Amino acid sequence: MAKVFNWHLNREMEYPYEGSRPDKQFAIVFNINRCIGCQTCTMACRNTWTFNPGQEYMWWNNVETKPYGGYPHNWDFKLLEMMGEQSWNGDTYVGKTIFEDVPDDKRVLGHMPTEEDWAHPNIYEDTPAGEFKGETELPEHDLWMFYLQRTCNHCTYPGCLAACPRKAIYKRKEDGIVLVDQERCRGYRECVQGCPYKKAMYRPTTRITEKCIGCYPLNEQDLGARCVVACVGKIRLQGWLSAPGEGNPENPMDYLVHEAKVALPLYPQFGTEPNLYYIPPRWAPRKFLRQLFGPNVEDAIERYTNPDKTLFGLLRLFGTTPTLISRFKVTDDDAVGFDRANRELVRVPLDEPFFVRPEYDAQYDVQRLNEP
Ligand code: SF4
Ligand code: SF4
Repeated sequence: MAKVFNWHLNREMEYPYEGSRPDKQFAIVFNINRCIGCQTCTMACRNTWTFNPGQEYMWWNNVETKPYGGYPHNWDFKLLEMMGEQSWNGDTYVGKTIFEDVPDDKRVLGHMPTEEDWAHPNIYEDTPAGEFKGETELPEHDLWMFYLQRTCNHCTYPGCLAACPRKAIYKRKEDGIVLVDQERCRGYRECVQGCPYKKAMYRPTTRITEKCIGCYPLNEQDLGARCVVACVGKIRLQGWLSAPGEGNPENPMDYLVHEAKVALPLYPQFGTEPNLYYIPPRWAPRKFLRQLFGPNVEDAIERYTNPDKTLFGLLRLFGTTPTLISRFKVTDDDAVGFDRANRELVRVPLDEPFFVRPEYDAQYDVQRLNEP
């Protein structure tokens, strides 16, 4: 086992291969607070990539309702139970990752979901936890749930890649996207077991594994993935994330993840250094959120609740353009996004203009109703 540095854990960890970061890293930030659970992202992905026979249970993008929902069912709770105690000392993870507490015949700790687990893509949709006690208010609601948006994390240290005995899975140097070589794969399904997020999926008709490809044909034209661009709630922002210490605060991903630290990785304790980041929901119990997003949940929620002007402006740029925003700036009035060639892509006012129309419109001689 090699020693690699995982910045989510703030320590070195064991991994079957030497560490090697890509030239730039595919990343998405999800603002959980704004998701309406409409599944437009899910269907945009499905209509593009997984509509063929054998792909019936293959949902590269899914949106599940936490705390009870999950696809495949209980994907996370089963692994959390296997991992034992997962404790943090400040920002440093002192428990074991899925690469450090492994059975002798495996390279990665993991479980294989059953057919039943795969059979219900949106089980427990909209099912809340807790008890309604009359009036509920922030910071934590008595009765609560939230939507969790999920695709492949294009991890820096992928569990799927580590588990594959055929070396059929690789991480692209140019963008950090993790792909399955369809020629090399023999369908052993070690990746299905080794991916802690259960985003490597077996296709029985071809007997090989398929997974999210990050919509790389779009990214190569500086366009966002289908799930990102289609998002009705405008909760997603995609871009390129730098390694810590090498970030550029004008890059939206670097700002959200490294500067404002408002977006956090999902289950960092697994140890794969995932590259999807989440702005945690303001109303959910902090203990539950700490288990999902690590020890910095309270700080992230505080920054989201009371954003400075830069963060306030950047949050307005989510979902405003299909083109990847390479650089942003916030003026006194607007948030502005620029493309890779530094051309202005989009400009959004910080304060939405508010118009009050007179009840009587003399030009058309009509009385207007005040419709919400
Ligand atoms: S989320 Fe799973 S399938 Fe995707 S790169 Fe990470 S380990 Fe591999
Ligand atoms: S399209 Fe956007 S708002 Fe709708 S479920 Fe997906 S992430 Fe949530």
